[in-house]
Amino acid sequence: TPTIGVLALQGDVREHLTALAEADALARPVRRPEELEDLDGLVIPGGESTTMSKLAVVFDMLEPLRAFVRAGKPVYGTCAGMIMVADKLLDAREDQETLGGIDMIVRRNAFGRQNESFEASVEVAGIPGGPVEGVFIRAPWVESVGATVDVLATYGGHTVAVRQGNVLATSFHPELTGDHRIHAFFVDMVRAVG
Ligand code: GLN
Repeated sequence: TPTIGVLALQGDVREHLTALAEADALARPVRRPEELEDLDGLVIPGGESTTMSKLAVVFDMLEPLRAFVRAGKPVYGTCAGMIMVADKLLDAREDQETLGGIDMIVRRNAFGRQNESFEASVEVAGIPGGPVEGVFIRAPWVESVGATVDVLATYGGHTVAVRQGNVLATSFHPELTGDHRIHAFFVDMVRAVG
């Protein structure tokens, strides 16, 4: 059974812990660099990426998290977590740091201006059993991706789920629905590495 951490600086940590447990992983909250050491994978939750970025600096987690990604450990980011694994941002705060990991440009609050929050059915490549219910909350979208990034889903013409190597990201929040297929997909990614 893989051990998967949920970055617990800020955001909807508990919902991810529940979803991971239901997808047959050992899930635990992570706040300190040494807690990254024995993890097989890591989830970066939804929340507020500017706050998460600041707290990562304050808690001396920024470089350890970057090293975790660079080491090729599987990481899954939802919403604010997607922003955290982007190599580049649009509409970010000037001093906003990301971990990087996916060669993409993510636009913060991209859906938010038109529509603060909505749900939509989203077909995700690699997820069997039909579309997932996407919960979008002041959600980012992926403005552009590099040549080696797989686009897994689009909504309204905008990219909302991507994977590059061992890093997965969605604009929406599967942890807020009872449907844990995307978490199960991530747990399989982690198993494939271990
Ligand atoms: N708008 C938030 C941000 O920029 C993300 C919202 C979310 O995670 N639901 O961090």
